[in-house]
Amino acid sequence: MAKCELLDTCGFFKNFKGNTEVIKQGWIKMYCEDKAKSEKCARKQYRKKHGQPPPDNMTPTGKML
Ligand code: SF4
Repeated sequence: MAKCELLDTCGFFKNFKGNTEVIKQGWIKMYCEDKAKSEKCARKQYRKKHGQPPPDNMTPTGKML
């Protein structure tokens, strides 16, 4: 299955993929490893809207860690 194309540059993925809460919520599997669902990622939408990435601790649901 295709993954999110932003994986390599996403601060959340790079810095928080091992975070206990992130693992517990399953966000990486749910969003980052599923290209279709990643289109719903709040981080990706933020990037499109603002032209720059959100803070690294913003999760794919938009909630801050
Ligand atoms: S958090 Fe969002 S933008 Fe970042 S890699 Fe995952 S799906 Fe892509």
